[in-house]
Amino acid sequence: MNNSAQWIERADRHIARTYGRYPLVAARGKGCRLWDVDGKSYLDFLAGVAVNNLGHCHPKVVKALQEQAAQLLHVSNYFHIPAQIELAEILCRHSFGDRVFFCNSGAEANEAAMKLVRKYSREAHGENRFEVITALASFHGRTIGTIAATGQDKVRVGFEPVVPGFKYVPFGDIHALRAAISPNTCAVMLEPVQGEGGVNLPPAGYLQAVRELCDEKGLLLVFDEVQVGCGRTGSLFAYEQEGVEPDIMTLAKALAGGPPIGAMIYREKFVDSLGPGTHGSTFGGNPLMTAAGIAAMTTLLEDGVLDNCRAMGAYLAERLAEFKKRYAFVVEVRGRGLIYGMELSIEGGDIVKQCLERGLLLNCTMGKILRFLPPLIVTREEIDEALDILDGVLREI
Ligand SMILES: *Cc1c(COP(=O)(O)O)cnc(C)c1O
Repeated sequence: MNNSAQWIERADRHIARTYGRYPLVAARGKGCRLWDVDGKSYLDFLAGVAVNNLGHCHPKVVKALQEQAAQLLHVSNYFHIPAQIELAEILCRHSFGDRVFFCNSGAEANEAAMKLVRKYSREAHGENRFEVITALASFHGRTIGTIAATGQDKVRVGFEPVVPGFKYVPFGDIHALRAAISPNTCAVMLEPVQGEGGVNLPPAGYLQAVRELCDEKGLLLVFDEVQVGCGRTGSLFAYEQEGVEPDIMTLAKALAGGPPIGAMIYREKFVDSLGPGTHGSTFGGNPLMTAAGIAAMTTLLEDGVLDNCRAMGAYLAERLAEFKKRYAFVVEVRGRGLIYGMELSIEGGDIVKQCLERGLLLNCTMGKILRFLPPLIVTREEIDEALDILDGVLREI
């Protein structure tokens, strides 16, 4: 067995350099804790970037995977797959949706949504309806299509020409959105709460106003809930707290409690726009991942996880508010459920490194925003332990 230094040396030789990685070599996880190959333990307040909402290796997810793995790993989507059907039923029963297309990631779910809005709008309104309006500071994925949808120039640099048909407006500005609509517009795609963009909450009434505007102009509304869906904000889906329903929603990250999965959920009205042969995915909705998805969704709905998320979220918010009072470089604390951002007036990268050394995993987005994404099963004691580590780091600044 190699130690961390040996693994990192090997990684440097053959792993793509697409990530600036921290010097942590992960070995195993349980609940909110992660251990590296040297046996050091970390409190995980990143949770695989909102994937491990049920903590690491939740026993129900592990059991579902083990049982399904012994039964059937893969079969083509040319055939019907019971676990896929059951997961679709759960998702539709608990959302606005009627239909589910399964894929393997958030970017793929958004690709599916962009194909659907173009296809439906062409059929319903004619050739020139193809443009999608998204928000500045949004994040929708890393594929050639989703970097065009993402409202951040930096993700596109060097990959031009950019796929045409996207416009960006400031998140939260209904007037800018109205002004951006043209005869070519077919849809608006938003994260109900922006994750990568720095935990940006929608102003009160904004998403409702977006819904009304879409209805007025005959546009489809897509919510990208890849990061904030599946319980993260304290309700099963983030849109529920806004009193607004989209036409299409994309999910991925936490949907299967760890394993890779993506899903696009949509209304019956659009079902014929994606008929046989128009879209597909070899692995999408495979038995293994959808079995995990059933276990993850059932656990989320039945085991008090959402209640815990709301209660611990309130506690986390309270404790983070103390940091704002105590440290002049803390500009703002904002969030909902268990996604919180602490905006600093200084760079956050070193703070993250210091926390890692002391056994706390956090992340910093947009340079200055520390992001807290603990598993939704986190306890008060774990929050205290994490924030004591962070406090120790902040005190030395
Ligand atoms: C992570 C993320 C994606 C991309 O998901 P991948 O599985 O990495 O392709 C898309 N949208 C949002 C809001 C995300 O947070």
